[in-house]
Amino acid sequence: MESARKNEVSKSGIQRLIRNFAEEFIRFLKNSKYAVVLTGAGVSTDSGIPDFRSENGLYSKYNVNKVFDVDYFLRDPKYFYNFAKEEILKMLMAEPSATHYMLAKLEKESLIKAIITQNIDLLHQKAGSQNVIELHGNVSKAHCIQCKKEYDFIEILNGPQNTFECKTCGDLIKPDIVFFGESLPENELKKALYLVNSCDLIIVMGSSLVVHPAASLPIYATNKGAKFLIINRGKTALDSISTRKYDCNLNEFSKTVLNLLSQEG
Ligand SMILES: [Zn+2]
Repeated sequence: MESARKNEVSKSGIQRLIRNFAEEFIRFLKNSKYAVVLTGAGVSTDSGIPDFRSENGLYSKYNVNKVFDVDYFLRDPKYFYNFAKEEILKMLMAEPSATHYMLAKLEKESLIKAIITQNIDLLHQKAGSQNVIELHGNVSKAHCIQCKKEYDFIEILNGPQNTFECKTCGDLIKPDIVFFGESLPENELKKALYLVNSCDLIIVMGSSLVVHPAASLPIYATNKGAKFLIINRGKTALDSISTRKYDCNLNEFSKTVLNLLSQEG
């Protein structure tokens, strides 16, 4: 009994804390003229998508370092395609989380300008976000590495085995996602740099900020005087330079923000 009551007390304590975070977050947004959001894998874990690029062995059957290593892919594309036929198809069935919907609403209400994401799962677009910069590409398209012919990556994944050979030249078809050992798409990086150099508020959600160059973006923004918010469960590499850090469950936080915004009407 005693411990049950204690749990209830701490639960309402956490709710109050998240409500305070959410209210302050909305004030920061309203006081800014140019807010930009950077999202990482943490915003998609509530949609059931594990962190693809983490080394924590989330996939027992596949070695993520091997799956997304470009040299390994060129040597043995079957390894990647076996993974993709299972895991990426599963990912494409996922639904946006409260965080994706909350960010789409912030854009619609002109409270944020753009989202820069490290995710490849297209969930921001599914939730209705328009201005999304994808630093690691996405899973919708693929190209032949030789003749550059474009393919619908989802069609390839749904096709028979060994459909990763180009119909025109017979070379390898590679999805438009950034593998380990590859540089980021130049255009997307340029857009991201423009955004962080222009913003007066940068918000990081669901990233521990260890993968560069994405993790450098908040540093550029703060060097120019932008305020810097982090909403993440657990430590990040840039906690010490943040204006405010909201260490909490992202899904609960986003639901609370959505509630507060709808109460305002
Ligand atoms: Zn080709």
